[in-house]
Amino acid sequence: MLTIKNLHASVEDKPILKGLDLEVKAGEVHAIMGPNGSGKSTLSYVLAGKDDYEVTEGSVTLEGEDLLALEPDERAAKGLFLAFQYPLEIPGVATMTFLKTALNAQLRARGEAELPTPAFMKLVREKADSLGISTEMLKRGLNVGFSGGEKKRNEILQMALLEPKLCVLDETDSGLDIDALKVVSEGVNALRAKNRGFIVITHYQRLLDHITPDVVHVMAQGRIVRTGGPELAHELEAQGYAAYVADAAA
Ligand code: ADP
Ligand code: MG
Ligand code: MG
Repeated sequence: MLTIKNLHASVEDKPILKGLDLEVKAGEVHAIMGPNGSGKSTLSYVLAGKDDYEVTEGSVTLEGEDLLALEPDERAAKGLFLAFQYPLEIPGVATMTFLKTALNAQLRARGEAELPTPAFMKLVREKADSLGISTEMLKRGLNVGFSGGEKKRNEILQMALLEPKLCVLDETDSGLDIDALKVVSEGVNALRAKNRGFIVITHYQRLLDHITPDVVHVMAQGRIVRTGGPELAHELEAQGYAAYVADAAA
């Protein structure tokens, strides 16, 4: 589904990603772990197509299509979903309105008809119910005064509505509280599907106590330096990242 080959990327002319290879197949959940500053968030920004992140070498394809040639909104329309650590707060926009705008933008980009409001409301309620999410917060301004758990609920609901092919969650260093941690892990588990892939970026092993990944990668100095099964996360928790920092610098 997602194939990243020899990816090099710079921020302000400083090389951050230095030859990253990664392959995520449909139905798989991959965890990327690694020391602070290894480039995990940079990878998610490059996939999102954020300004100022310049790809200098390598390729990224989603279902065989060159992702890097697409604008950020086109990437979303092709089924890429990114969740970042600090979601946007928009006081004047009700969360419900935001979700509707996001879904309709995606439908338009795919050349499909927008959903009329009643059909949209019905769909949101169904998705929210299936995830055990209350629709009460949807009346409030987007993320305004939301707890960590509510922000994550909103994010998971957005994911459920947009039905992405590949979800990238950058939860690094976010200090998710227990509530938010549960929301993210239950949401990911509920949305796991054979035609959908996940990349869960996390500094800490504890998120992976609730989401059992198929594959765990260690990232250091801008590359994937080790790949293993779920047991690798436990090994990292026990031993820390010191070995990888030293190895990658050598
Ligand atoms: P991680 O998410 O693994 O902690 P990051 O991708 O946030 O790593 O950062 C990797 C490196 O890139 C760090 O050395 C960081 O200082 C640098 N970096 C990230 N974003 C920027 C930026 N906008 N401008 C300059 N340097 C940056
Ligand atoms: Mg960091
Ligand atoms: Mg980060």
